[in-house]
Amino acid sequence: MAKLKSEGKCYYCNKVSSKAGISRHLETHLKKMAVEGTGSKQYFHIRVEADIMFLQLLISGDANFSKLDGFLRQIWLECCGHMSQFGNWGSEIGKSRKVKEYFSKGFKTKYEYDFGSTTELTIKVIGEHFLKEKQAIVLLSRNEPLEIYCQSCGKEPASDICSVHLGYEEAFFCEDCMEKHEETCEDAEYAQLPVVNSPRMGTCGYTGGSIDTERDGVFTVAKK
Ligand SMILES: [Zn+2]
Ligand SMILES: [Zn+2]
Ligand SMILES: [Zn+2]
Ligand SMILES: [Zn+2]
Repeated sequence: MAKLKSEGKCYYCNKVSSKAGISRHLETHLKKMAVEGTGSKQYFHIRVEADIMFLQLLISGDANFSKLDGFLRQIWLECCGHMSQFGNWGSEIGKSRKVKEYFSKGFKTKYEYDFGSTTELTIKVIGEHFLKEKQAIVLLSRNEPLEIYCQSCGKEPASDICSVHLGYEEAFFCEDCMEKHEETCEDAEYAQLPVVNSPRMGTCGYTGGSIDTERDGVFTVAKK
């Protein structure tokens, strides 16, 4: 697959930044918004990533890890209720613990969903701010759908994956090429999964998230 670019829109001003630049961009907003005193609460700005995919989140210090687990499942992971875990091997973080018990700027931890076909994420705390915000978790940004083209014709955006052929030269197909692939691939019927904007794409029976669904599909070719 050609090298894909990963960029996301800012929740506050809609500016598009690269994966490398978006953390700092969001920090400038959050620093300006920060207020001490009545009505303001402790929030953490965190980055969740899996290879080139990312989520930028704001999470209340009083939220517990199961709240974050629930959010990650809704946006990126849930296929059939697998188990998940925060923390590194041997130092698991209990899900009833509040994030503020662990989080501080620079803190890093691992998250795993499904101990069989595992999807592994890295969580990093980018900053801490006192804000007048009501939601427990705010989605500040996520990578826009990646420009994955059909690996057979190379012309159309890929819409389907043959999950048994992941890792082979041709696993991502447009609709027409998927139909052709089905003629030669014995497993294609049960192995076919949609291209979605998640690191769990193509794994187990994953067919997409249940929130922020408008950014969860196939990329659209920019009109020239
Ligand atoms: Zn912005
Ligand atoms: Zn599953
Ligand atoms: Zn094609
Ligand atoms: Zn196949």
